[in-house]
Amino acid sequence: MKKTILTGIRPTGNLHIGHYFGACQNWLRLQDDYDFYLEIADVQALTDNFNNPEKVRKNIYEITTDILASGIDPNKVHIFLQSKIPEIAELTVFFSNLVTVARLQRNPTVKTEIAQKKELFGNDGESITYGFLGYPVSQAADIVAFDGELIPVGEDQTPLIEQCREIVRKFNSIYGETLKEPECMFTKNKRIKGLDGNDKMGKSLGNAIYLVDDENTINTKVMGAITDPNKIKKDDPANPDVCMVYYYHQLVNDEASCNTICEECKKGARGCVQCKRELITKMNEYLSSIKDRRRYYEEHPEEVQRILDEGTKMAREKAIEQLKKIKHAMKIDY
Ligand code: ATP
Ligand code: MG
Repeated sequence: MKKTILTGIRPTGNLHIGHYFGACQNWLRLQDDYDFYLEIADVQALTDNFNNPEKVRKNIYEITTDILASGIDPNKVHIFLQSKIPEIAELTVFFSNLVTVARLQRNPTVKTEIAQKKELFGNDGESITYGFLGYPVSQAADIVAFDGELIPVGEDQTPLIEQCREIVRKFNSIYGETLKEPECMFTKNKRIKGLDGNDKMGKSLGNAIYLVDDENTINTKVMGAITDPNKIKKDDPANPDVCMVYYYHQLVNDEASCNTICEECKKGARGCVQCKRELITKMNEYLSSIKDRRRYYEEHPEEVQRILDEGTKMAREKAIEQLKKIKHAMKIDY
C-alpha cells in the first residue's frame, strides 16, 4: 500500500519562490509514488485573518491556481479545502485535551509568529486568541485525519510537526497504539530567505517574489534586494554569502554561471546592477513555463473549482474512515 503524504498551505496570498523551492519541489518529486493530500488551510488562515475573511476566500482560488501552475497534477494529488472536512475540526477538539497551554506557548514557531503579529496580538502577545495559540493542535489534526506519515514542508514547520508527534505519542499511550508518528521531509533548500535578507521568505513578511509577479514587479523587487552593505563602489570586492542576489542566482541559474558570479564578486569584477539584471533575466526565464500553465487555469476557473471539489470529496472519505478508527480507540464510538 502507498504511504500517505499530507501537506498544506494557507490561502493568505499567492505562491512565492520560497514555497516553490522550499516545499513544492518535494511535492512534484513525490506526487507519483504516494497517496498525496494537499490541504488549502483556510481554517488555519482564519486564525490570524478572522477579521478579513474576504482575503482568505479570494486566495483559496489564487493559491489553488498557483499550485496547478507549478506542475502539481490533480490526477495524482488530492487538493482539498480544510473547512469542508468537519472531521478535522472534530479531531482538533479531541487533541486539545492532550496538549498543555504552556507547551503551546513555548512552541518556537508560534512564538516567532506572535512576535511578528503585534498589530493583531499586542506587543507581548497579550491579545493572543485561543484559536491562534491552538493552531498547532489543529495542524496535528490535519495530519492525523489523513493518517499522514510523510510531511513535505519547509524548515519553519519543524516545531509544528514535533508538536504533532508529541500529541500522537500521548494519544497512543492513553488509548492504545492507533496513530502513526509523522515525519518531516525537506527539500535541499529547506528554508528560502526573503528579499530583505530575513531568514524566511513569507507571505505575511512582505519580502517575497511570487510566481505570478510580472516582469516589472520582479525587476523592482530584485533591484531592491539586499546586497553586501560593505560594497559601496561598483568595483569593490564583496562577499556573495551575504548577498540576496547571489543567493537567488543559486536557485535559478546554472552551477557554472554561479561559480563565475561568485569569483567575479569576490574580486570586485562585477557590479551589483549588472548582477541584478542577469538575475531578473534568469528569474523570468525560470518562471515562464509556470506562467503559461497559470494562464490556462485562469481561463478555466470552472476546472479549478472541479479539481477542488473532487479532491475534497476524496479527502473527506479518507477522514471519515480515520475518525471512525480514532473514536473506536477512544471508546466514544457510541
Ligand atoms: P504565512 O505568512 O501566511 O504563514 P507562508 O509564506 O509562511 O505564509 P505557508 O502557507 O504558511 O506560507 O506555508 C506553506 C508551506 O510552504 C509550508 O510547508 C512552509 O514550510 C513552506 N514555506 C513557506 N515559506 C517558506 C520558505 N521561505 N522556505 C521554505 N519553505 C517555506
Ligand atoms: Mg507560514
